Amino acid sequence: MHSPEFAEPYPVFEEPPYDDGPVDDWHTEPTAAAAVDTADRSALDVLRRVFGYDSFRGPQADIIEHVISGGDALVLMPTGGGKSLCYQVPALVRPGVGVVVSPLIALMQDQVDALNALGVRAGFLNSTQYPDERRMVEAMFTAGELDLLYLAPERLQSESALALLEQGKIALFAIDEAHCVAQWGHDFRPDYLALSMLHERWPDVPRIALTATATEATRREIAQRLDLVDSKQFVAGFDRPNIQYRIEPKNSADRQLLSFLRTEHPGDAGIVYCLSRNSVEKTAQFLSANGIEALPYHAGLDSRTRAAHQSRFLREDGLVIVATIAFGMGIDKPDVRFVAHLDLPKSVEGYYQETGRAGRDGLASTAWMVYGLADVVQQRKLIDLSEGDVAHKRKLSHHLDAMLALCETVECRRVQLLAYFGQTGQACGNCDTCLSPPEKWDGTIAAQKVLSTVYRLDHERSQRFGAGQVTDILLGKQTPKVSQHRHDELSVFGVGADLREAEWRGVIRQLLAQGLLAVHGDYGVLTLTEASTAVLRKERQVALRREPERAKPAKAAVAKSKAAPVDLAPEAANLFEHLRAWRAAVAKEQGVPAYVVFHDATLREIAARRPQALSGLSGISGIGEAKLAKYGDSVLAAIADHPE
Ligand code: ADP
Ligand code: ZN
Repeated sequence: MHSPEFAEPYPVFEEPPYDDGPVDDWHTEPTAAAAVDTADRSALDVLRRVFGYDSFRGPQADIIEHVISGGDALVLMPTGGGKSLCYQVPALVRPGVGVVVSPLIALMQDQVDALNALGVRAGFLNSTQYPDERRMVEAMFTAGELDLLYLAPERLQSESALALLEQGKIALFAIDEAHCVAQWGHDFRPDYLALSMLHERWPDVPRIALTATATEATRREIAQRLDLVDSKQFVAGFDRPNIQYRIEPKNSADRQLLSFLRTEHPGDAGIVYCLSRNSVEKTAQFLSANGIEALPYHAGLDSRTRAAHQSRFLREDGLVIVATIAFGMGIDKPDVRFVAHLDLPKSVEGYYQETGRAGRDGLASTAWMVYGLADVVQQRKLIDLSEGDVAHKRKLSHHLDAMLALCETVECRRVQLLAYFGQTGQACGNCDTCLSPPEKWDGTIAAQKVLSTVYRLDHERSQRFGAGQVTDILLGKQTPKVSQHRHDELSVFGVGADLREAEWRGVIRQLLAQGLLAVHGDYGVLTLTEASTAVLRKERQVALRREPERAKPAKAAVAKSKAAPVDLAPEAANLFEHLRAWRAAVAKEQGVPAYVVFHDATLREIAARRPQALSGLSGISGIGEAKLAKYGDSVLAAIADHPE
């Protein structure tokens, strides 16, 4: 069994209990909704008028055209790639309502608010609603008064919900977070398995499944389970050039985090991931005590607290959320400036998904992680103790191995990450290994010393110990535990005086990562592997990565990143801050997250151009017809009352 401390098999979406009532109020505001007349609109026209963007990105145009003409699609695009438009635009162009299946019920209100702000008629049905609100949305659906309807997957299990859908005209089904159908993925949702019936029941309605995370194997599983094997697949480039990837050795995770935040991200919004609930709480307290406003989020908190913390993170500027992996799926806050991992993720897929939550707005962001020997020991232990058969454990082991290889690589991190998703790339110049290439050294002798210590303990003494004792023996430390077991009599005692303790831990960690050493059970005891023998027999060389003395922040590179923000002149930067305050007030008054009003990127452009009239605003990216009508005058007034 898992110890409860780490029992976080997959993120928790359980719905707040009925009698709790809704977390947010249902917005009945008619908005500029009716203004969006979708008749005879081409996709590009919708993009420009509704969303205020000039052109489609990457494969968006192809996907949208395919779905508009009735084709099914499986779409793989990294977080921030622009998946939502792939179903929102076809839903507006095709007659009928786009039905979006999403597991993220806590975010539906925000998604619907964001669409309403664009003048799109959207609603949702989930168990957080009062019956009256639900009936109203249902009535709008059947009357053809909606463009988009968001549904929790479990709704589709009920015959009454299916009967409701039969009564309206459906433009398309969008299956968001489609990797939730993959059975061994950490986001598996049993409700998703039933979604293959959509095709049987509505054979003529196109379906588009979307996910940001899928290796080749997961992709096949999604296609098969959703009955999309014959549909067209669209795979976007997975690179996120504006994210800088860095992985550093862990000494004192809290202190390292604090210094990272203070030097590189003061005042920025970001997510800190920890493995256990306990470390989430401790880290959040530690940051708060050190003047950084941080909120905890994990499955052990009651649903109200979770919802409140998530909502504050989305709405307020510059908050840090400290969370287990229960947090984050579908969070489309565009200005998350950093994602920090204080513990090793279980897989590269998970890591990429979590780090991908940074920088959706395309501006420079950091994915930062600290990692050490204890992480390897702990992750191996979790696998040993996990439920499931041997095949399952082997799979978990492979995932962990790929993650360890990423941590220990001396090559470009981005190249490794992309390779994991089957894509090629060139050394990026915006990751730690590119910016300060780590040195390799010949660790063969050091490896032999470690392995022969483990061998001697096992064979001469029939004993197994963890990394701490092995290190003490190598360093020749006379600890009580060494004396008690008479380990000072071993021939290897003190043979490792040439390296420091931290270096030995680094060696052991890398041997574990390379499969030259194994770790077991609750106490993290070390044993040899089949591969160890070749090293002990001097038949195999061992290359190791030198531990950097102290990793230095790689500020310089941020400016080089393709998507780095245009530096605003000082007056424009002042105006930008003024506009942010204006936005915060407007958002608060309307009860929506700030980014629903305008994204940072849009505000920056407004600040740089300082338009005097509505005509000057309408050319700015992110300002469509509805937003111009809704916020145009107000933002012009805000510009006017800011002294030049
Ligand atoms: P995903 O769901 O793939 O993570 P989103 O759909 O949330 O990504 O899009 C990420 C960001 O990019 C959003 O802020 C969105 O408004 C913006 N975006 C998407 N498509 C375009 C486009 N064609 N032009 C400009 N911005 C876009
Ligand atoms: Zn690189």
